[in-house]
Amino acid sequence: MKPMDLRKTLGESVLEIRGDGKAGGGLVLAFQSLASLALTDPTLNVQEWPFFSSARRGANIRSYVRVSARPIRIACEVTNPTLVLLMDEGAARTVDFAQGVPPGGTFVLNTRHTPEVCAKHYGLSGRVITISGDEIGLKHLRAQIGNVSAYVAMAHAIGGFTPEAVFDTFLSALKKRRIPETVLQRNREALEASLSEVKEGVFDEAKPGTHLVPPFAGYGDLPVGAQTALRLSQDNLTAYYARTGVQLHFEDPEDKCTGCGHCITNCPEGIIHWEPNEKNGLKVTGSDVTEYCKLCAECISVCPENLFSEIPFNVAWKEAEVSS
Ligand code: SF4
Ligand code: SF4
Repeated sequence: MKPMDLRKTLGESVLEIRGDGKAGGGLVLAFQSLASLALTDPTLNVQEWPFFSSARRGANIRSYVRVSARPIRIACEVTNPTLVLLMDEGAARTVDFAQGVPPGGTFVLNTRHTPEVCAKHYGLSGRVITISGDEIGLKHLRAQIGNVSAYVAMAHAIGGFTPEAVFDTFLSALKKRRIPETVLQRNREALEASLSEVKEGVFDEAKPGTHLVPPFAGYGDLPVGAQTALRLSQDNLTAYYARTGVQLHFEDPEDKCTGCGHCITNCPEGIIHWEPNEKNGLKVTGSDVTEYCKLCAECISVCPENLFSEIPFNVAWKEAEVSS
């Protein structure tokens, strides 16, 4: 069984890519960056979108990218991807990340295991690429964030991109999120470290009849246009989605903020406030909870110093009275 040449695929037809992970794990950023990387080649056409089951941290999510030298006329979920990414092995407990991949396809896994072990465990036939992204994240970003490495491994799988283009594209995506320079530098280190950590091999471990696409089961009950209406609404302040009766609270009386930047990177609304700090590069001072904090609790769960919490509204009002 010969692995498919992904560069040749995107030149002759459409390279279809699918990723499985967990909300909060950086899958969307990895796929957006891969799409942007493809767009650095003016001859390529690109399509990219994520599919959320829930905005809460830990829920399974999927992302899709199509890349082609030809105009892309298809617009639906990717069901037979030539390249798949398993960002979080926990996601594979409930979905078959290899479903629909043709023999000879490419499987990228963020894992500590070798390509051979993964091929046997998941029953994969094709090119298997592994990278220990969580460990690289822990070393350079001070958290088990594997998306930087997963993105590098996918770029490697497609081939034809210079390392500088791979690095700069990811860092540009972070800059758009107004990430501080200190955190950008740590991401650059993680990108560079990932390049030499990619491992791969070709295996034929899929059993006949496995990873098949099931018959179409219908679209479910979501009304047509529901998402579009939500996105186009003029008064769609995301704070409306917060649970009633509670409010986000930030408190750091003992000056514990280490400047790790995880809250800034993970806040989907980009509303964490910070200031430059000589010792740690930055220091978080709070967040804008008035209009856009939807209490997703990302900042609460990622802060290693537990500086964010939820407090009842009446406590927040009492604090306001005391300070006024
Ligand atoms: S500030 Fe609000 S919106 Fe941002 S991560 Fe925290 S809870 Fe979520
Ligand atoms: S508030 Fe917490 S997560 Fe944010 S930079 Fe400081 S220590 Fe890191």
